[in-house]
Amino acid sequence: MYQGILEQYANVAGEDVIDHLRQVAESLKGMKVVHINSTRDGGGVAEILNRLVPLMQELNIDASWQVILGNADFFQCTKGFHNALQGRDVGITDSQIRVYEETNATNAEILKAQLEEADVVFVHDPQPVAMIKHFPKRKGKWIWRCHIDLSKPYRPIWKYIRDFVTGYDASIFSLSEFAQALPHPVYLIPPSIDPLSEKNIELDYEEINSVYERFNLDPERPVLLQVSRFDRFKDPLGVIHAYKLAKAFMPFQLVMAGGSATDDPEGDSVLEEVRKASSDDPDIHILLLPSDAHRTINALQRASDLILQKSIKEGFGLTVTEAMWKAKPVIGGDVGGIKLQIFDHNTGFLVHTPEGAALRIRYLFHHRDKMQEMGMKAKQFVKENFLLTRHLREYLTLIVALINNVDERIELS
Ligand code: UDP
Repeated sequence: MYQGILEQYANVAGEDVIDHLRQVAESLKGMKVVHINSTRDGGGVAEILNRLVPLMQELNIDASWQVILGNADFFQCTKGFHNALQGRDVGITDSQIRVYEETNATNAEILKAQLEEADVVFVHDPQPVAMIKHFPKRKGKWIWRCHIDLSKPYRPIWKYIRDFVTGYDASIFSLSEFAQALPHPVYLIPPSIDPLSEKNIELDYEEINSVYERFNLDPERPVLLQVSRFDRFKDPLGVIHAYKLAKAFMPFQLVMAGGSATDDPEGDSVLEEVRKASSDDPDIHILLLPSDAHRTINALQRASDLILQKSIKEGFGLTVTEAMWKAKPVIGGDVGGIKLQIFDHNTGFLVHTPEGAALRIRYLFHHRDKMQEMGMKAKQFVKENFLLTRHLREYLTLIVALINNVDERIELS
């Protein structure tokens, strides 16, 4: 039987969550909401919009999604912005700035009629942020949605981008650490995972079990998994160290799954170090997966007994959310957004060192009941806080607040 998209989400997130969405959306019926970003596929923003826009439409909001067009020079420049806003000292030339502004002007012209009429415009990330300058007579509210880590931007570039951002009616950041002071309301909306995406959808038993044969794993011995890019901040050598300490007490296997790192010279050298540190142990499996191996990662997460995310620096840590949603106990580094997800001893364990991680690995492998209990709590916590439906509800609530000019804010100390 065909199920509408709202019913599909009700099945996983709960009827009450969808009812709540319907209630909030009631006052927004027919409203023209436009999302703008710079790519239709690839990356977390596109993934979210792919689902979020149809959900909004099903709630009777006149939602649409526009992607700006640009040439290689434009994307070269915005890649530089991206790196600079995440803290790197990047030089941008005058001619790049010219290309950036001209591209924004051209796209503003293409979307003119629609954007002038829109009630609400969400502009995602820095690529289209300059378009606002071309809409002095806009009638709607414009919101800048920043998905990146702006905690320590390279100042000259942030100063340039900030000048556009100040023209918006509000901004949204993912975490308080990422937010910047701006002369308009600043909202915090954490990221979310989509429970119906390939990465997170329920899989049948055969598909989950197929990873044992495919990756040469022994189904008789427990599996510990870390999914991460080969990046020092994910502490892959610390993961191997923790595994070796714990392995002295019990037999189990370690899987480290990450992408191939051909465009990242540092990734290559980290991978080399990881290979060296693991070469003496056939129970350490280093998997290089293509970037679209979402279903494989899903199956690996479900087939594993325990998940590690031993980061020493982390933005939010979507791998933690993904594993928790699959009712897996997670041992995570006590940093960044991992702290928002794991409550120590409750929805998982927080650790600071390989020794600490090894201790928790041993403890959990010896207390299967605790593993199960932690996994269930973890799943419930993600269900209540980090699903796409919560993300959408917060967008809708924000629209209601902006449209009604609610400017009394409660400041939480
Ligand atoms: N991921 C993936 N393939 C890999 C490594 C990671 O698809 O080889 C996914 C992972 O499942 C998660 C995202 O990439 O959805 C990583 O997000 P996270 O916030 O954990 O870390 P980041 O890489 O953004 O620092």
